[in-house]
Amino acid sequence: AAKEQGRNCYRYFTTSMQEKALYRRQLANELRLALNSNQLQLHYQPIVELATGNMAKAEALIRWQHPVLGMISPVEFVPVAEETGIIIELGDWVFHQAARQAAQWRKLNHPDFQISINKSPQQFRDKGNDISQWLDHLRSLGLPGQAIAVEITEGLLLDASTTVTDKLLEFRDAGIEVSLDDFGTGYSSLSYIKKFHVDNIKIDQSFVRNLKPDSEDLAVCEAIIVMAHKLGLKVVAEGIETNEQRALLAAAGCDYGQGNLFSMPLPVEKFKTLLSSQEMVI
Ligand code: C2E
Ligand code: MG
Ligand code: MG
Ligand code: MG
Repeated sequence: AAKEQGRNCYRYFTTSMQEKALYRRQLANELRLALNSNQLQLHYQPIVELATGNMAKAEALIRWQHPVLGMISPVEFVPVAEETGIIIELGDWVFHQAARQAAQWRKLNHPDFQISINKSPQQFRDKGNDISQWLDHLRSLGLPGQAIAVEITEGLLLDASTTVTDKLLEFRDAGIEVSLDDFGTGYSSLSYIKKFHVDNIKIDQSFVRNLKPDSEDLAVCEAIIVMAHKLGLKVVAEGIETNEQRALLAAAGCDYGQGNLFSMPLPVEKFKTLLSSQEMVI
C-alpha cells in the first residue's frame, strides 16, 4: 500500500529505523550549517480580516533550501531541530528575521502590522531569559510587543509547568499576543485555554478542508467561534482554499482567515509587493 501512495511515501516505508536515525542525524548536522549559511528563509502568508478583506497580519513559515536535497519541508526538519536542541538557535533566528521584517513593513504604511511566529514547546522548557532578550531587541528596533505574536500548540498547555505558565504571562505583560495553533486536534477545552491567557485560536485546517453548508465540520467551527468570542478570544481559520469556505466562516463570525485562497506563503520580496498593493480584497 505504501508503494501505491507514491514516491514520497515509498522511502519512508522501506527505510529501516537505523537508516532513518542516520538520516536525521545528518539532517541535524546540516541544519547547524544551514543556520549560518543563508539556506534558511522565512516565507510569509497573509492573515486576512474576513469582514473587510484587509491583510492585518502574516504568519512567518520557515523554509530550508538545501544545496543538494532541494527544498526541505519544516514538517521534516523542525522535529529534528526539536529533538537535537537546535530549535533554540533556530527559534532565535526566526524571531530576529521576523522582527526585522515587522519593523520594515510597519514603516511602509502598515503601522499596526503584526507577524506571527511559531514557537515549539521545547523553546519554553529552556529556563533562559529569552523573553527579556526578545523585548530588548524589539525595543532596539522601536517596536512594541504587538508587532510580534507567537503561535503555540495545545500540547504545551497540557505540560503546564510553572516555566510555561510564567513565560506565557511574560508575553502577555509585554503585549505579545499568543495564538493557539491547530486548535481542535488536541485535547484541551476552550475554558481551560482561557486560564493561560491565550489571545487567539487558530482552527485547524482539518475542520476547514471539507466545510460545506449543514456539515458537521461547520457545526464544530460555529461552536468554536461562539465559545471563543464569549471568552474574549479572536478566531483565525487556517487552510481556506475556496470562496465557499471563506463565506461560511465569515457568516459564522470568524474574525480572520488564512490560506491559499488569499495567498500561499511568499518569499519576502513577493510578500512586500502584495502588501503594498493590498490586493487582498476579494
Ligand atoms: P502551522 O503553523 O499550522 O502552519 C500552517 C501550515 O499550513 C503551513 O505549512 C502552511 O504553508 C500551510 N497552509 C497554509 N494555507 C494552506 C492552504 O490553504 N492549504 C493547505 N493545504 N495548506 C496550507 P508549512 O509551511 O509546511 O509548515 C508546517 C508546520 O511547520 C507549521 O504548521 C508549523 O507547525 C511548523 N513550522 C513552520 N515554520 C516554523 C518555525 O519557524 N518554527 C517552528 N517551531 N515551527 C515551524
Ligand atoms: Mg502556525
Ligand atoms: Mg496550524
Ligand atoms: Mg501545525
